[in-house]
Amino acid sequence: MSRLGAIPTVKAETTVRAILPMKALRVLPILALSFLTLQSAKAQEGLKIFISIDMEGLTGVVTDAQLGPSGFEYERFRRFMTDELLATIEAAREAGATEFLVADSHGNGQNVLIERLPDDIQIVRAWPRPLAMMQGIDESFDGAIFIGYHASTTNTEGVRAHTMSSSNITDVKLNGISMPEAGINAAIAGHFGVPVIMISGDDATVEEARAIIGDMEGAVVKWANSFHSARTMTPAAGAALIREKVKAAVGRISDFKPYRLEGPITFDLSLKHYRPVEMLGYLPIVERINSHTIRFVGADMLEVSRFFQFVTSYSISIQP
Ligand SMILES: [Zn+2]
Repeated sequence: MSRLGAIPTVKAETTVRAILPMKALRVLPILALSFLTLQSAKAQEGLKIFISIDMEGLTGVVTDAQLGPSGFEYERFRRFMTDELLATIEAAREAGATEFLVADSHGNGQNVLIERLPDDIQIVRAWPRPLAMMQGIDESFDGAIFIGYHASTTNTEGVRAHTMSSSNITDVKLNGISMPEAGINAAIAGHFGVPVIMISGDDATVEEARAIIGDMEGAVVKWANSFHSARTMTPAAGAALIREKVKAAVGRISDFKPYRLEGPITFDLSLKHYRPVEMLGYLPIVERINSHTIRFVGADMLEVSRFFQFVTSYSISIQP
C-alpha cells in the first residue's frame, strides 16, 4: 500500500497550482476530472503481488488421482495448474502489477512447470520453509492472491476439505477461530500489512474465506457435491474466470484490508492421533489442552507459522 498515491498526488497538485492563477474557474472542473483519472490510472501501476498456489481447488480437481505423482491425471493437472498461474500473472499485469513472487504450496512443493513461467517470475519450491505457503512475503507486497485453494478440515462442505494435512490434523484455531489455510495465510500476509485480494477454489472455499477474512474477489471454478466430487468448469473456462477476477481484484486493490491478528496469538492444533499430542506436550512451550489438542502461544504469526511448520515437518529420521 505504501506504493500507492504519493507521487501522482504531488504531480497533480503541482499542475493544479501552476494553472490555477490563470483561467482557474473554467479549467477547474476539467482539471478535477483529469486529476481523478490520473489518480485511478496511476494507482494501479508498479504493484507487487504475492501468489500462493495450491492444487485441490484447481478447476477439475476432485480426487488424489490429480494431486500427486502417483495419480494417473497428475501430469495433466500440473499443466492446468501452470495455466491458472499464468492466467493470474497475465491478468495482474494487465491491471498494473509489475512484480511477483509465487509460492508453489501443494504436496511436495514442486508442481508448477517452471519452464513455462515468464523469465521475470521467481518461485518458491519444496519444504520446509518457515512461512510455509506464504514463504517470501514481506511488507513490500501490495496484495496476495490464493489460487487452487480448498476449504478447511472443519468445514462439512468442500472438495478435499482439509487444513495442511488431511491425514493428521482435525482442527487449527487462531485466537479461538477454526481456520482454513486461507485464514492462516491471510494472517501471515496481514502481519506484513498485505491484504488478500482474490481467491480461487470451489464454492465452499470462497464462501469460507470471505466469512473469515472479509471482502475479496472470488473465482468459483467448481461446486462441491462431496469430499471427492464436484460439478466443475473446464480448465480453459476456469482459467478465464480466474483471469477476470484477478483483473477485478488488482483494479480495486485499495478496497481490501489486511487480515491482521493482534498478538499474542493462541494457536490450538488438534491432531488425529494421540501420541504426537502426548509427546509435543513434553515441551515447556506447549500446553496440552485435551487428549488430541495442543496449544502454543506465539508473539506473532511468524512465531506461530514457524512452530506449525516444525510440528508438521519434523521427524528424527529426516535425512540428510
Ligand atoms: Zn492445501
